[in-house]
Amino acid sequence: MKSRFKAILVQKNDKGQSADDVELALGDLMDGDVVVAVSHSTVNYKDGLVLTGRSPVVRKFPMIPGIDLAGTVAASSNPNFKPGDKVLLNGYGLSENHYGGYSEYARVKGDWLVPLPPAFTAAEAMAIGTAGYTAMLAVLALEDLHVTPAKGAVVVTGAAGGVGSVAVAVLAKLGYRVIASTGRPEEEAYLKSLGAAEIIPRSELSADPKPLAKERWAGGVDSVGSKTLANVLAATSYQGAVAACGLAGGMDLPTSVAPFILRGVSLLGIDSVQMPMPRRRQAWERLARDLDVKKLASMTKTIPLSEVRKAADDILAGRIRGRLVVEVR
Ligand code: NDP
Repeated sequence: MKSRFKAILVQKNDKGQSADDVELALGDLMDGDVVVAVSHSTVNYKDGLVLTGRSPVVRKFPMIPGIDLAGTVAASSNPNFKPGDKVLLNGYGLSENHYGGYSEYARVKGDWLVPLPPAFTAAEAMAIGTAGYTAMLAVLALEDLHVTPAKGAVVVTGAAGGVGSVAVAVLAKLGYRVIASTGRPEEEAYLKSLGAAEIIPRSELSADPKPLAKERWAGGVDSVGSKTLANVLAATSYQGAVAACGLAGGMDLPTSVAPFILRGVSLLGIDSVQMPMPRRRQAWERLARDLDVKKLASMTKTIPLSEVRKAADDILAGRIRGRLVVEVR
């Protein structure tokens, strides 16, 4: 193990906060029973919020950002992990109250670690990252409510983003007719290459919602929130279900009870951060089965750790297509 290693540290200062390059020693890391040599991390929307300080995600300063990490166990006093094991970690408070993945080493609780599925390299697992694992949690939630391909189309909002891209690819592979909503018409060919059958403009779903609209889909995966989610719910068919993952368009939800009490529509809340381990493992097993790694490669760009600050601005501005992997070492 290196005695000094590089990391990014978010610190509070007179001007608000800064995200600085630092050199740390293992003794600077937080408590935990496993040390991971981190090879890859990612940039998710939430990482953008942390790096820019736009939303109060960080609960403890200073903080190493990065809600995802993948790498190799370097030291462990946890009976379930030994040096050399390949592992990944999503959420569990990383970059909120525990140091995250933008660091060559991370000391974490072994209970938070998922063994790297043999189907994926560490880089591929991070190409999926929290965004892709959340997309799979949304798909599992729809399946629990019996939203099958036979029930009708499914809509994916924010389709060209991270959650959206993985949701489109997985749902299409599972046989659903996927309607992809995007604010970027130039991404039509990209979304079709992932398996979308139809592209609709974001503006179709961002108008003031009516309590109910013509039934258009049996389900949905929404990473936008606000009026978009309200419009998705209003156009969901009888006994359909919509998985709500995100707030890229706003945190409000200007809807009525009409879809719920007149059409029996279900609104499914998706939280990836504290999701219990059995469901996490199930999601990763299903990703290994239901996500085409060639499509994953087509939605992924790789950047060095030094570029995450620029990427943070881009992701919050909706300029990132698909997923960003960060090479940490
Ligand atoms: P991305 O930025 O990659 O994707 C978000 C997409 O939403 C954009 O690409 C864009 O898609 C669309 N979008 C952006 N701004 C707006 C807007 N103002 N109005 C409508 N659409 C917009 O982010 P992620 O995929 O990483 O995350 C998506 C959301 O899901 C975030 O809100 C994030 O916080 C949340 N999330 C929640 C998790 C959970 O545990 N619940 C876990 C992971 C993510 P397009 O250009 O195609 O329209």
